[in-house]
Amino acid sequence: MFSCDSVNSFDEELERRLAAIRAQGLHRELRRVDSPQGPRIRISGRELINFSSNDYLGLANHPALKAAAVHAVDEFGAGAGASRLVCGSLAPFHELEAALAGFKASEAALTFATGYATALGTITALLGKDDIIIADKLIHACLVDAAKLCGAKLRIFAHNDLNDLEAMLKWADQARRSGAGVRSKTPAILIVTESVFSMDGDHAPLREIAALKEQYGAWLMVDEAHATGLYGMNRRGLAEDLGVSDRIEIQMGTLGKALGASGGYVCGSRALIDFLVNRARSFIFSTAPVPAAAATAMAGIQLVQSAEGAERSRKAWALADRFEHATDALGVGVTAPNGLILPIILGDETKTVEAGTRLREQGFFVPAIRYPTVARGAARLRITLTANHSADDVGKLALALSKTINPQS
Ligand SMILES: *Cc1c(COP(=O)(O)O)cnc(C)c1O
Repeated sequence: MFSCDSVNSFDEELERRLAAIRAQGLHRELRRVDSPQGPRIRISGRELINFSSNDYLGLANHPALKAAAVHAVDEFGAGAGASRLVCGSLAPFHELEAALAGFKASEAALTFATGYATALGTITALLGKDDIIIADKLIHACLVDAAKLCGAKLRIFAHNDLNDLEAMLKWADQARRSGAGVRSKTPAILIVTESVFSMDGDHAPLREIAALKEQYGAWLMVDEAHATGLYGMNRRGLAEDLGVSDRIEIQMGTLGKALGASGGYVCGSRALIDFLVNRARSFIFSTAPVPAAAATAMAGIQLVQSAEGAERSRKAWALADRFEHATDALGVGVTAPNGLILPIILGDETKTVEAGTRLREQGFFVPAIRYPTVARGAARLRITLTANHSADDVGKLALALSKTINPQS
């Protein structure tokens, strides 16, 4: 039986751990927002200009997406009932997946409740302990967790370093050959990267990576969470922009960033999607998202493909140019200066949190990103621009940053 003492010592232990987190400048807390997501949000009774969300095209509070959600609730109800394999698979999910496959020009698509569940389900379905995963150092936590969970040998290559990647592919190919004949199946080698990196905003050299994976007979999985809806002629992502979409076996992305809704997806061959329906545990053993989530994402995809989507994307990129010029002129060092994800790496955790606090005092909400989201000592302000910001918002932010980061100038 639990005594009160053991309960207290449990909380005491957690308090000790929390104190250690605080001492390193790594404590986090939830900030309540009393408004929709948008370029202005209401926190503690104050309106702040919001440079923190991944709602790049400003769709999270768009009337067309809200109407789609309301309509889906009217037609299909509030909840989904069970896993799609158990109680039947509601029509909005099928419509969404057909729209996704069309949008991405792939054979088929499957959606999951979150991007996190997408990575977990997909990688653990495809690979096991005899296989090898070679991943970029800066991939998202969900891909790292998936790689660990699947039990494959995990090798990490230096960020965007093709020589390091090739050295690992050589090693993996050798390991695969030396084990051939011993095992019943040839081990798979999977390369995993993002296209636009979530906390750094830089790009993976996808053409060169695709060439290497072909040379060494590996598979390639690319997470386009921060590129879908933003890059390429049809805004399919960076793979489209670089002309390599059909060389990527597993195209992953999220529905909760530029697409304005929530969820994750995989696009690829019919065989891949059929296999995931049968083997992706985070898909099989999880209640389907509410039908409104699928309908919202569907509306997001339609909007991205429309003339308004093109205009919103153009506007967001024009703001990025404007911000680049303003920060250049003011001497604010942005590490990856020409995207919608704009990191200012300050290094020290406590200093970065203080900079975030000073920006909030001036009316700007900019997150201080710290370990474990980025490496220790690589803390940063992460600014994200959206189509719903104004030129004035961006100019004011640049000025506030220069005062906050270079207070002497
Ligand atoms: C946000 C993100 C995810 C997770 O997606 P969620 O839908 O938020 O769970 C996966 N990969 C990358 C690169 C992301 O930025």
